[in-house]
Parts: sequence; C-alpha cells; structure tokens
Amino acid sequence: MIERLEKYDEWARACMHVRCGLCRENCPAYSQLRLDSYSAKGKMTMLFYWLKGRLEPDAVLAERVFACTSCGLCDVACGYEQSAAIQEMKGVLFDSAISLPEGYKQISDRTRESGNPYAEDREKARTFLESIPERNAETADYTLFLGCTELYREQEQVTDVLRILRDADVSFSVISENICCGSPAYRVGDQKQAQEQALSVAKMLKEKEQKVLASCAGCYRMFSHYYPLLLEEENPFPVIHSVQLIDQLISDGSLDLQPLDAKVTYHDPCHLGRHAGVYDEPRRVLSAIPGVELVEMEWNRKFSKCCGAGGGFRSGRPDDAIAVAAHRVKEAESTGASILVTACPFCLRNLSDGAKSIGSDIEVRTIESLIADQL
Ligand code: SF4
Ligand code: SF4
Repeated sequence: MIERLEKYDEWARACMHVRCGLCRENCPAYSQLRLDSYSAKGKMTMLFYWLKGRLEPDAVLAERVFACTSCGLCDVACGYEQSAAIQEMKGVLFDSAISLPEGYKQISDRTRESGNPYAEDREKARTFLESIPERNAETADYTLFLGCTELYREQEQVTDVLRILRDADVSFSVISENICCGSPAYRVGDQKQAQEQALSVAKMLKEKEQKVLASCAGCYRMFSHYYPLLLEEENPFPVIHSVQLIDQLISDGSLDLQPLDAKVTYHDPCHLGRHAGVYDEPRRVLSAIPGVELVEMEWNRKFSKCCGAGGGFRSGRPDDAIAVAAHRVKEAESTGASILVTACPFCLRNLSDGAKSIGSDIEVRTIESLIADQL
C-alpha cells in the first residue's frame, strides 16, 4: 500500500531539505492545535520517515494526518501540492488496519449504511424532493443536484435556489432521490466508498442528459475534479455551480435585483475557490446588488483562510472546527461588514456556529439566500 505514497517522495524530500515552515502559520489545523506535526511540514516529515521505513504508521500518526481540513492553503504557500499527498496518506491509513481517530471513520460508515454522512433517514429527503413540482421535467436544461448538507441540515438553501431558478425562468429538473456525491467519504480517505457513490450518482445524472447544477461547493468539486479520476472518464457530465449560473442570469438580464444597503464580505469556500478557481463570479454577483458595498477580508481569493469544516475536521474535532470558524468570523468583522457571505452550505453551517460561539452580530448568509431575498 505504501507504493501509493511513493510518488510524493520527492516532495517530502524537498520539504526535508528546506523545512521553511511557510505552510504553517495559516494552516487551520496548526493554528488551532499549535504542534508542528499538525502542519503540512509535520505531515511531510512523517511521510519522509514513513517512506524510508523509519516510522511505522500508528494511531498517533493517523491522528495527526487526519487533522487536516483539505483546505489546500499549504499548497499556495509551498508550491508543492502537499494537500494531495496528505489526502493520499489518509487513503493509505484508511485502508490499513490502524485505528482511525473517532468521528472520521463514521462519515464513510454512515454513507455506506444510510446513503448520507449524517445517517439521516433518506425517506425524509425523498418526501421533500417529491414535493418539488419540477422534479420530473424531461426536457429541462439543468438537473439540480442537491447535496446532503442542503437536504438534511440547511434546507432553506434549497428553497432559495428554487426561488432564484423559478424567478429567472430557468428550466430544470431535480433528482428525486438523495444519494451522497461521495465527497465526505473521499475526504476521510475511503476512496472505495467514494467510488461507489460516484458510480450511482453518475448513472442517475447521465440518464437525465442535462447539464448538472450543483449548489454545494463540495458536490461541485467532486463532480468536476474527482469524478473524472474515480470513474476514469475525462468529462462524465457537464457541471456548473449555482453561483456561476446566477452570474450568467444577472448578466443576461434574467434577474432583477432590489437594492440592499449593506456592507458585505465574501468568504471563498476552499472547494470552490482555491480548488476550482471560481473567484470572480461570486464577487460579480454580490456587486450587482444595488447598494451593496463589497469589502475584502485580508485573506481572500487563493489566500482565503479555511472555515474549518472540511476534510472530516468538523466531525472529527467539532470544537476545533468551530474555533477555526470563529477566527474567520473575527476577520470578517474587522472589515466592518454586517454580512458575511459564502457559497457553500457546509461553510455556512460552520461559520454560523463560529459566529454564535463568540456572540458575533455578523449575519452569515449564502449568496443564494441574499439573492433570493432581493428578487
Ligand atoms: S490542507 Fe489545509 S489543513 Fe491540511 S495541512 Fe494544508 S493548510 Fe493545513
Ligand atoms: S512550505 Fe512546503 S517545503 Fe516549506 S515546510 Fe511547508 S511543506 Fe515543507
């Protein structure tokens, strides 16, 4: 199994030569847990000795490796894609007999048993999805894929997306069954489960023969980046994120927005920003609302700090995840903005909890909710 890591040997060696530590300070895991072994530098050092046969992977090493939100901020600092090496370390550890830190493994166990990482009864989602009149539209332009967080934890996000699509007369259909896209299982190293999810979801989506519309940043990255790898197909189906579609709808005059007198700042979700390069569209959308003043946080676009929720971190270390979010909320507050906007229901959830934990007055919203209220 260790062969899977050999391709990262050169990166680990390069790190061992310089160990500059540039990746450290803004790493959410390091900034919260304050031990080098939680940073990319520490993880690459462990990988180096692991590959040399001088470090036996064990539960302690697994605890350090899994404490990673997969945010990719270390890649920007480093120049090597260290987050990909860390992801593969998770995969190898997952497939070994080593006991994994609590909270991470349950994500893929739940996905396998219930079809979603929250272990929710899928009937709940089915009832909701069947209440959407457009669900069976056969000649629609888009198939709206709704993710588990939207369906089981942030259902208002779905209502907002539907309001926007209807207002702009977008023709769409909806999959009337919830099957997790596989992102949560993939992020905790369970590539097999992620592949199973990908096979089922891709089958459903391909049957529709429509462009896929995803309103969750995690689902979007999974479809656009990981499905080609997991399914060994260059482009399984075309996909667009809801923020990209809203940007198009505004520019072609399909959405008429009412004014909002507010100072707003934008948090780039790692999956949509750093990992997919979608930086301009959300900013254009926010700036298109008359009266909105968009102000940037110090760490924005490819340098955006992580909300702390990804990579299984929220499930494995909930208090640390919320503490990381609280730091991001404080950064947002320092801009003077009254609204912190993001484009991912999972970031919404963690940032809202972070704001609550420090008694912040800042309003945490998604772009979809802001736009839907201005129609
Ligand atoms: S991906 Fe993010 S959390 Fe993981 S080591 Fe890199 S900076 Fe830290
Ligand atoms: S920035 Fe790169 S080379 Fe420098 S310590 Fe971090 S992982 Fe190693």
